[in-house]
Amino acid sequence: MRIPTTAFGAGGTVTVLNPATADPIADVPLADLAETDAAIEAAHRAFPAWRAVAPADRARLLRNFAAVVEEHLEELALLEVANAGHTIGNARWEAGNVRDVLNYYAAAPERHFGKQIPVPGGIDVTFHEALGVVGVIVPWNFPMPIAGWGFAPALAAGNTVVLKPAELTPLTAMRLAELALEAGLPEGVFTVIPGKGSVVGERFVTHPLVRKVCFTGSTAVGKGIMRGCADQVKRLTLELGGKSANIVFADADLEKAAASAPGGAFDNAGQDCCARSRILVEHTVYERFLELLQPAVERFKVTDPSRPDAEMGPLISARQRDSVAAYLKNADVAITGQTVDASSGFWLPPRVVLPRGTDDDVWRHELFGPVVAVLPFTDEADAIAKANDTEYGLSGSIFTRDLGRALRVARSVESGNLSVNSHSSVRYWTPFGGFKQSGLGRELGPDAPDSFSEVKNVFISTDI
Ligand code: NAD
Repeated sequence: MRIPTTAFGAGGTVTVLNPATADPIADVPLADLAETDAAIEAAHRAFPAWRAVAPADRARLLRNFAAVVEEHLEELALLEVANAGHTIGNARWEAGNVRDVLNYYAAAPERHFGKQIPVPGGIDVTFHEALGVVGVIVPWNFPMPIAGWGFAPALAAGNTVVLKPAELTPLTAMRLAELALEAGLPEGVFTVIPGKGSVVGERFVTHPLVRKVCFTGSTAVGKGIMRGCADQVKRLTLELGGKSANIVFADADLEKAAASAPGGAFDNAGQDCCARSRILVEHTVYERFLELLQPAVERFKVTDPSRPDAEMGPLISARQRDSVAAYLKNADVAITGQTVDASSGFWLPPRVVLPRGTDDDVWRHELFGPVVAVLPFTDEADAIAKANDTEYGLSGSIFTRDLGRALRVARSVESGNLSVNSHSSVRYWTPFGGFKQSGLGRELGPDAPDSFSEVKNVFISTDI
């Protein structure tokens, strides 16, 4: 396996482990404050020339970047299997997602239209002006896609980007930075800075030349970043935690709802901000649903993530595994899925728990692991009330054959991303983001380049 390199290192090193085995795979050099400042200043110097690149040429460079990612798709996927314990199927999808997101936003430079607005005495036009240096801060759970959702639209809108990967999972982002140079992006346009959140991440917040922070991670850290950005009225996107509900009505295709529930909750070992970690089932079919859920959970394939049949691998770290396991100590576990007979690595089996009520920790807290809690509800109003009884609002699912009910409930659940009769993953061509404490702003979709630019209004008088 080829380990990507970096020019940084004054901030020490971090040993990156393979979560499936706990074996070290690389010592990654980290940036200190001075190196971070130097990289931000280099990105600032690169900005005027990048902004001035003709739209068609910027588009071509982003398409080149996508093509180089495509050429290295398998290498990137294998790197992610080793560094993050993702299943090979997921990791290939994730590398492909970076390619697709780059191609999608490669269309933006030539189409980032302003408006011509009717006014008396002249004409009025608006422009989307690039911001400057954008700082992207990425968590460990989906290192490649979340990086791409930030850097691709930001670059397309004419910004330069500095990106900090999570300490545990820096390798694919570092490789993407190398591939960007290979694709012809000028030096300083896209820089990946491995480092600590408290050093590199915080510097993105405090450095005046970073004009926007695009943060994905925990709600607690996100709140601190929001407070820090207030000092400079710095632009900010937050993609934070979730505790999403999967609502199953009695009239649903119960077999389908039960068969798909493990994927909605345990994909990426449940370390997914969109995990449907609360299942609400109409009381008349609650027992039947649990009967159907049991074989589906037991079938869910937990194994070495590099195997093509793997549906779930390990958790990211011993710390994450222990934090999830602690929630299970007093929980009523109804179903336990497959375990891996491994002497090392950070494994937990999938589990279905039955909370005693909506105050239970397993029902309220984002566990970020392979645990799903199931509760019954009485009627549509009760389902909506229980789904909304959370500080989060990121995603959710509704299983029913009644179209009117599907739409009524979808409109009533306070969440940014809902899917009916499916657990839709994030689609790069549709907007993604959270209500309430799940976030601020939206990523992806056709409007993402707008959130990486300022609208400028220009009036031209025709009265000479
Ligand atoms: P985290 O908040 O601990 O870290 C996220 C990133 O922020 C890391 O790169 C970290 O180094 C950095 N960071 C830490 N402290 C910082 C600080 N003081 N200033 C600036 N940066 C700092 O989160 P995590 O444990 O890596 O990821 C898991 C969390 O991310 C979960 O809560 C999950 O729900 C959330 N998440 C949300 C989405 C979404 O799109 N809404 C997607 C994935 C993950």
